[in-house]
Amino acid sequence: MSDPELLKRAAEAKEMAYAPYSGYRVGAALLCNDGSVVTGCNVENISFGATICAERCAVVKAVSEGKRDFKKIAISVSGDEIGFPCGICRQLISEFAKGDFEFVCANNKGEFKKFTLSQLMPHGFYSNLKKETNNG
Ligand SMILES: [Zn+2]
Repeated sequence: MSDPELLKRAAEAKEMAYAPYSGYRVGAALLCNDGSVVTGCNVENISFGATICAERCAVVKAVSEGKRDFKKIAISVSGDEIGFPCGICRQLISEFAKGDFEFVCANNKGEFKKFTLSQLMPHGFYSNLKKETNNG
C-alpha cells in the first residue's frame, strides 16, 4: 500500500476523532505485515490523563485482533503543522516494531514526512523483562 493510500485511511479515521477539549483531531492508519490496515483516532476525556492518542488506539485495536507485526503507520492531523507521535506512542510502538518501522507524518493538507522508529526513538527503553508465554 502506498503512503498516500495509507494517509487517506488515516484522514478518514481522523473524522471519527473525539476531541472536544483540544479541537485537535488525529487519525492513524497502521499497516500490518499481513497487509491489513487498522485505524484509530484520538479519544479525549475530561480527565485528561484518560485521553488516548490515535496511534495507540490503532495499535491496541490491532493487538486485540491478534496482529503484532507492523510495517508502518500514517498519521493525519487537523493542524497546519505536520503531526508527530508523542513519546508514549513511540514507546508503545517500539514494543512491537523494529527500528525500520516507518512513520508517515502528515498535516491537514496531506503534506507528509517519513521517519523510521530508529530516527524518532534512537535510545528507547528496552529490556529483557519479557517473559516467554504461549502466545508470545
Ligand atoms: Zn501519542
